[in-house]
Amino acid sequence: MTDEGIPQRCAVCGGTLIPQLITHQVQKGEEIFVFDNVPAFVCSQCDGVWITGDVKDKIDEIVRQETEPKGPEQQHES
Ligand SMILES: [Zn+2]
Repeated sequence: MTDEGIPQRCAVCGGTLIPQLITHQVQKGEEIFVFDNVPAFVCSQCDGVWITGDVKDKIDEIVRQETEPKGPEQQHES
């Protein structure tokens, strides 16, 4: 199963998805990360926002790096 791609139509209302650059916010605990010019698809009917797996991965990665505890108590699992 591949859920990664963007559906041709909004999965909520069936509206047309329009590629746009959006401002995307991710809240992690008490911190809010704001990403400008995120390539996404916006539904023309319900304003639902869809972000591709690739972009989401990148955002997740940045947020993780920013929130990762840094210090001597690093865990190392292999
Ligand atoms: Zn929609």
